[in-house]
Amino acid sequence: MLPVIALVGRPNVGKSTLFNRLTRTRDAIVADFAGLTRDRHYGTARLGQRQFIVVDTGGLEDSAEGAIFEKMAGQTQQAIAEADLVLFLVDVRAGLAGQDQEIARYLRRVGKRTLLVANKAEGMKDAAQLAEFYELGLGDVHAVSAAHGQGVRDLLELAAELLPAPQEPLQPDAPDGEEPDAPIRIAVAGRPNAGKSTLINAWLGEDRLVTFDMPGTTRDAIRVPFTRDGKRYELIDTAGLRRKGKVFQAIEKFSVVKTLQAIEGAQVVVLVIDATEGVTDQDAHIAGYILESGRAVVVAINKWDALDRYQREQLERSIELRLAFMRFAAVKHISALKRQGLGPLWRSMDAAYAAAMRKMPTSKLTRLLQEAVQYQAPRKSGTRRPKPRYAHQGGQNPPIIVIHGNSLDQLSQSYLRFLETWFRKAFKLEGTPLRIELRTTE
Ligand code: GDP
Ligand code: GDP
Repeated sequence: MLPVIALVGRPNVGKSTLFNRLTRTRDAIVADFAGLTRDRHYGTARLGQRQFIVVDTGGLEDSAEGAIFEKMAGQTQQAIAEADLVLFLVDVRAGLAGQDQEIARYLRRVGKRTLLVANKAEGMKDAAQLAEFYELGLGDVHAVSAAHGQGVRDLLELAAELLPAPQEPLQPDAPDGEEPDAPIRIAVAGRPNAGKSTLINAWLGEDRLVTFDMPGTTRDAIRVPFTRDGKRYELIDTAGLRRKGKVFQAIEKFSVVKTLQAIEGAQVVVLVIDATEGVTDQDAHIAGYILESGRAVVVAINKWDALDRYQREQLERSIELRLAFMRFAAVKHISALKRQGLGPLWRSMDAAYAAAMRKMPTSKLTRLLQEAVQYQAPRKSGTRRPKPRYAHQGGQNPPIIVIHGNSLDQLSQSYLRFLETWFRKAFKLEGTPLRIELRTTE
């Protein structure tokens, strides 16, 4: 499970600025899909091979005048509780504020590991301005400038030293390191009541499925290994499942952080949508996280049994509209309760995994690229015409295609989408995001 860093502080100290700087690692292409709602309050930060989930509590605060920390929305407290490390931001230019004291008191009381970060410290010659913050009793004061990026990398390195070290390679996609027989890691994500626990129990009750002993629970996360038709899988829990007799039951309330951790830890995500509720904003958000994470995905429209024909048609249209940015994913209609549609769902999950792990030889990629360019050449921009020359595979799960050539920075978004469609078709990449990276030489 990826470690979680929460950014905490009163309004205007620079939390969202720091958040943007820490999480600015994802491909720009992704953000371009129409209809993708990005929730800016959760993201991932990278330091070398290590990855962290970053939560900006900024937007979650009660914005009412004089709202004190103790009364802050429960979500901030939940974010702190779920974090492995808190970055507590203060504003050196504004100086120590009463609210800072209150937040510090709270953090000391809950005993959460905290780094005190003095932001807006660009151009500060001496440490005198930092001195007053030692009063907060949280140890060293780390000066940064989120806006200018100064001290941010040092801060992340320091944070990394304090966080639990990864127990396994964080890139589940390590192309050749993966043992051939390693289980496919699956996460089931979705809103509360979408039917996640019912689906998991339907799976675990299947005759064809052999479950193994559950390993000891660590940090609230459980993994359920099992075999189906001779294939190994491992279920990564999002819902805080606990075994009650023979069945699993979700005992915790919905947690975005846990959902993100499970998505990041999985290779295939089943996004469960409650057909009786339609595609809600929260569903679109979760879909957005999955897309950003690059994991393979299958959309399971659950409770299909409860809809009449008219409602089914309505729902199809809303999926088409609201999940347009995920058109690459298979959409399966199921009833977890009546155990209907589970076979096709499994097949889609296996297919999505296979697509995510597809090997794309350089020769074939390059030939496809050249055919695409021949079919439709990129448009000239100014005096330069972009010239894609060759391509190679840069990774799996998600597949990454690296295109080399001249003036590729001039390629339009629509041309990139054309290329994406071209490659998707050729390699049958259903069910997985695809990243295209450009390496341009003048
Ligand atoms: P939040 O409310 O804590 O999320 O704060 P924001 O990130 O929205 O920042 C509040 C204001 O402080 C914005 O006007 C930022 O541009 C500014 N700000 C953020 N970081 C820095 C910094 O390092 N130096 C300076 N001078 N201003 C900053
Ligand atoms: P979770 O919060 O996502 O784990 O959702 P649960 O699995 O606890 O299901 C929430 C409610 O939806 C329960 O009352 C289930 O019985 C019901 N439910 C789950 N799957 C289906 C289904 O396929 N059809 C119908 N009609 N109800 C379902």
